[in-house]
Amino acid sequence: MFFRIVFCLFITFISLEGVQPKKITVLGTGYVGLVLGACLSDLGHQVICADIDDKKISNLKKGFIPIYEPGLSEIVSKNHQTKRLDFSSNISEAIRSAEVIFIAVGTPTAENGSADITALEKAADVIGRNLNTNKVICIRSTIPVGTTKKIKDQIAKQDSHFEICFCPEFLREGSAVHDFFNGDRFVIGSESLLAKEMIEDVFSDLFLTMPVLHCNFETAEAIKYASNAFLAAKISFINEFAHFCQATGADVNVVAQGMGLDKRIGPDFLKPGPGYGGSCFPKDTLAIVHQAREKGLEFKVIQAAIDANDNHKLKIVEKLEKLCHDFHGKKVAVLGLSFKANTDDVRYSPAITIIKEIKARGGKVCAYDPLSNSNMKIIIPDISYASSLEEAARDADAAIIVTEWDEFKKMDLSKVSQLMKTPVILDARNLFSTKDLTAAGFIYDNLGRN
Ligand code: NAD
Repeated sequence: MFFRIVFCLFITFISLEGVQPKKITVLGTGYVGLVLGACLSDLGHQVICADIDDKKISNLKKGFIPIYEPGLSEIVSKNHQTKRLDFSSNISEAIRSAEVIFIAVGTPTAENGSADITALEKAADVIGRNLNTNKVICIRSTIPVGTTKKIKDQIAKQDSHFEICFCPEFLREGSAVHDFFNGDRFVIGSESLLAKEMIEDVFSDLFLTMPVLHCNFETAEAIKYASNAFLAAKISFINEFAHFCQATGADVNVVAQGMGLDKRIGPDFLKPGPGYGGSCFPKDTLAIVHQAREKGLEFKVIQAAIDANDNHKLKIVEKLEKLCHDFHGKKVAVLGLSFKANTDDVRYSPAITIIKEIKARGGKVCAYDPLSNSNMKIIIPDISYASSLEEAARDADAAIIVTEWDEFKKMDLSKVSQLMKTPVILDARNLFSTKDLTAAGFIYDNLGRN
């Protein structure tokens, strides 16, 4: 009993003690940077989220959150009000005021498929010019293997008052805030004891329960690419297998369940869908294939995952076209635009290819997404957008479910089929049983279920 009381007092003391607040600047206030900055401020740190996009920063200062991420808006406004979280477009000043700088700028796909690290190099240049005290720099953007070393050398030419590390970001859009506090692991790629210890201090509350892996820069960079490429391959595998199941009379949902129960395989990322998309898998698979080629190597498995994904999106459109015979002059309702549910991110969403293909084959697309209409309008302005599921379905000749939003899972199938001119639907997320689709009067198809 005595020891239990002492232990409880100790734990209380530890939690009262809490995290040692650090002055942190996050460069790049996008999906990763904003979530990272907001969550770090929630841990008790003094955080500035800095970005070159003045409009984004002034909107954030006014309380307007530029992206949708469950729980993010609450955490941003709470910490902004308590002045633990601020926003700035004065990058130099934000760097000078920090002990730790996280870099979360974009690393998009260059024309040749490689990762374009121009934004990272520019951020590093500004850091190099503003190292007024010894600082720890932590790169969080996804980067080709060898980049941290390159950036270290670049900054070192300007000033030596810094330590650097690379800690890959593993958040999933749609559950990013949850993932920050409940990650499966944290990887610290560092060659400096000081940088490693600083990161351990910053995340000390989380590291009480999260496995932490220490390695060199290159290994940490490779872990991020290997993880994304493996998940992309898993998705491409199950999507190809869905076509095989349909051709042979098997049910892919049950096949996936049977596979997933094997602990060596696991159930995640085995749900057939319209193909992987988003700002990570497409660009990261291309980037690692490109880097391997530069080294004289060939990533046949990853290249196959990319090819299968591209091909799968076209097969989805062919399936829908077959259902409605041809698209000419027909209204096609595209339900869901974001690359997955619970995010408004449409970057590399399979919906883009699907919409463009339907249009190219003569269809008239009417798209609806609970959150992403305005983001998709920027990429594809010349289709119509509906403000509700019902509006999209009304008088449509065919419909396709692209994103697994709860709103679609809960749709009244009979009502939707009655609203349509012809009740034709491709359930590209396997949200509904064939029994329910039949009962609602649909002419339907799905992925890998007969
Ligand atoms: P994003 O495009 O949403 O945000 C990048 C931000 O950086 C933009 O707001 C841009 O204005 C800003 N920026 C560009 N140059 C800058 C500079 N010099 N100084 C300050 N700000 C600058 O990108 P994102 O989705 O947040 O991704 C960022 C990085 O994280 C990428 O490398 C990505 O691969 C990686 N990542 C993303 C995710 C994800 O789910 N989005 C997950 C893991 C890793």
